[in-house]
Amino acid sequence: MNLRIHDTLSRKKIDFQPLVAGKVGIYACGPTVYDFLHVGNGRQQVAYDVMFRHLRARGFDVTYVRNITDVDDKIINRAREIGEDPATLAERFTQEFHTDVDALGCLEPTHEPRVTDSIEQIIALCEKLIANGVAYASHGDVYFSVKDLPSYGALSGQPLDQLESGARVEVDTEKKRAPLDFALWKAAKPGEPSWPSPWGAGRPGWHIECSVMAERYLGQSFDIHGGGVDLIFPHHENERAQSIGANGEGTFARVWTHNGFLNFGGGKISKSDASMKILFKRAFKIRAVIERHGGEPLRYFFMTTQYRNPLAYDLVIDGEDPATATLRFPGLEDAERRCEYAYLTMERLRDQLAVGKPAGDGAVAPEAEGWLGRLQEGLDDDFNTAEALAAWNEALQLANRILDGKLDAPKDVRRRTLERLARDFRVASDELGLAAAEPRGWLDAHRARRCALLGIDAAEVEATIVRRNEARKQKNFAEADAIRATLAAKNIEIMDTPAGTRWRVA
Ligand code: AMP
Ligand code: ZN
Repeated sequence: MNLRIHDTLSRKKIDFQPLVAGKVGIYACGPTVYDFLHVGNGRQQVAYDVMFRHLRARGFDVTYVRNITDVDDKIINRAREIGEDPATLAERFTQEFHTDVDALGCLEPTHEPRVTDSIEQIIALCEKLIANGVAYASHGDVYFSVKDLPSYGALSGQPLDQLESGARVEVDTEKKRAPLDFALWKAAKPGEPSWPSPWGAGRPGWHIECSVMAERYLGQSFDIHGGGVDLIFPHHENERAQSIGANGEGTFARVWTHNGFLNFGGGKISKSDASMKILFKRAFKIRAVIERHGGEPLRYFFMTTQYRNPLAYDLVIDGEDPATATLRFPGLEDAERRCEYAYLTMERLRDQLAVGKPAGDGAVAPEAEGWLGRLQEGLDDDFNTAEALAAWNEALQLANRILDGKLDAPKDVRRRTLERLARDFRVASDELGLAAAEPRGWLDAHRARRCALLGIDAAEVEATIVRRNEARKQKNFAEADAIRATLAAKNIEIMDTPAGTRWRVA
């Protein structure tokens, strides 16, 4: 195994060596819980879930930390807008976040710390940074002094003077010594959540929480840090500055990873863009997408490209009014078909292997040997899910070819190959987070979604199939074929299997 990961700081793919043999610590910046997640956030969650799963599959003992930002301007503002207590709002959206990431097939991280549980440590880090001469208190705030950290700007690749000339100068400049200095602690404003501190009542700045929670759960130095590319500057630059300012150069994350954006119409999906508000609810909230297409197809769609690449979330809008226009997502529909194909294969394979006896030891068809290795090597190469999915789909095709009786091999070899495929599929499923559910349950739910979307009456289809099967029983094949043809005209495909007649929406 030779695991390679692209590192944002050194700007190259490195051969990954963990800090402690056999162990990996990952810290990924989690959501600010003030609303339902959008699909872009979902992409980030899936990217790090894939890392977590693959490193585990490669035998590492992985500690995966994903924080929850539960105190922040956005939460306070939203709470004020709708007249809810900020802590209650944050708790509510933390639960909604869990519902969505579960539907995306993301495993629970090892730790999921919340900012409000780390206030004491945040204050201690502010004090340490002041003592180290890289931070200062001012008017009840505490600021990081960027000029006092020589390597400031290294992560985003911008020297300080360049950053200064490009900086959007924040308000409060009279409190700061330099425009790029950023808040570690903010004095409380009336009506905002606050905690007592040596500088008076206040709350943490945005960046310090991650320095604190990463150190609490992973130590001063750890293996992999991540988040979306938009976080490189200022968030990760500032996290790095805080942690190095406290613990010295050479500490904190050893590899910096950043997932590419999910782009809509060539631009960043912005939660605050008012003109997109309605469309956003209908098309970009994970919850709405899951209702239409299911969570697993969305996960699959994210995995169709390596995590660092940008990915276009192409939406076909038919109509003028965003509230009523017909929306179609060709990329997602394709992913949906792929997932359905995988589950149909799992079901056929299971049904086939349920009859007869195991084939025992011996040769399998050579085509069945290499794909799992290729899948894992794809993931070794900076978690290239596109390569992994190519190997996975090849194996699914092979399974269907054998199930269709199209593999020219002795019976015991065919059976043994199917057994081997079934075993390897379980390994791959666990690693990819795909096709791991009970097939019939998934396929039925999928079909119900398709019926709802296309206005198909499932009960009517079932009744028609009963009529067809009666016609067949009475050997009235002309009638049975005619019924099949009427169903086919409505995009209903029927399959006669040993377990009875099944149907799907084509
Ligand atoms: P936010 O809640 O906006 O702070 O974002 C939470 C996480 O989602 C961060 O790691 C972001 O980098 C990531 N993220 C936000 N928007 C997108 C997007 N359109 N595509 C991919 N990742 C995103
Ligand atoms: Zn962070």
